Amino acid sequence: MFKDKRILVTGGAGFLGSHLCERLLDSGAEVLCVDNFYCSTRGNVHHLLGRPNFELIRHDVCFPLYVEVDEVYNLACPASPIHYQRDPVQTLKTSVSGAINMLGLAKRLRAKILQTSTSEVYGDPMLHPQPESYWGNVNPHGLRSCYDEGKRAAECLFMDYHRQHGLRVKIARLFNTYGPRMHPNDGRVVSNFIMQALQGRPITIYGDGSQTRSFCYVDDTVEALIRLMSTGDDFTGPINIGNPGEFTIRELAEKVIALSGSGSPLVREPLPPDDPVRRRPDITLAGSVLGWAPATPLEPGLIETIAYFRDSLAGLENGPI
Ligand code: UDP
Repeated sequence: MFKDKRILVTGGAGFLGSHLCERLLDSGAEVLCVDNFYCSTRGNVHHLLGRPNFELIRHDVCFPLYVEVDEVYNLACPASPIHYQRDPVQTLKTSVSGAINMLGLAKRLRAKILQTSTSEVYGDPMLHPQPESYWGNVNPHGLRSCYDEGKRAAECLFMDYHRQHGLRVKIARLFNTYGPRMHPNDGRVVSNFIMQALQGRPITIYGDGSQTRSFCYVDDTVEALIRLMSTGDDFTGPINIGNPGEFTIRELAEKVIALSGSGSPLVREPLPPDDPVRRRPDITLAGSVLGWAPATPLEPGLIETIAYFRDSLAGLENGPI
């Protein structure tokens, strides 16, 4: 399908990036995967290294990149709260300087470029579910701001390059995504709960667990990104990509315990600052423009993810994987 197309994926060795690289390779594309391994691992793309159409480059998108490609998927940025808050200045630089550098590259090459933005641009939303037309409720100087405002600035840059330079841009707003190859220690709720359940440790519910999230299985997200990239030049987005099924964090904990056969107890821990209360995408636009809706309900997706973490843990017990 993508034969002879050269595609750059920044953040390509991350959780989502590695799945995207794999799908693009399977479709016949030549894939150039760029990553600085700040919060990703070579292990995520290890199985792709022997494929003739795959190339891996260690590079930080905060610096210019000179390569020749037809399309750019810009995923590079730490995405979990503990990763993006570890070095907030660098997070903001990655979003802003990274966007400027990748947009500059796309401008020189006249290449199509897709930005993975985030539901965090809606902040702690006052409107529910969130349509793309909602401008959000974001704290501009809190602990999440480095990520939220960085991604908002990147959206602005993408639209200005489009308006000012006629660049072909696509903006995807990704809601919580989960699946195999999530980092086991990135602090996100799905990976935390599964690791805790499998290791028989207490499941940490922040706050009273009544806050909600909508979880999209990674294969569905990848499918939507590829469809978005292939839309006509008149469509830029932003467009929501997520699963509209909405669950409280407590419901998620109970599902993980049941599906993993764990005896872990639930424990309460303080809610982190600015933690959004409710989150659920309105995906009407994705349905009409991309003909897309997520195909994987939460339970089967969790079963796959639990199996992945179980295998990873078994591998660790038997030596490094
Ligand atoms: N959360 C939790 N226990 C954990 C990790 C996260 O209760 O061990 C909560 C967190 O407070 C938030 C939700 O789960 O309300 C999703 O957190 P995550 O870090 O996965 O992503 P976010 O959507 O907040 O960026």
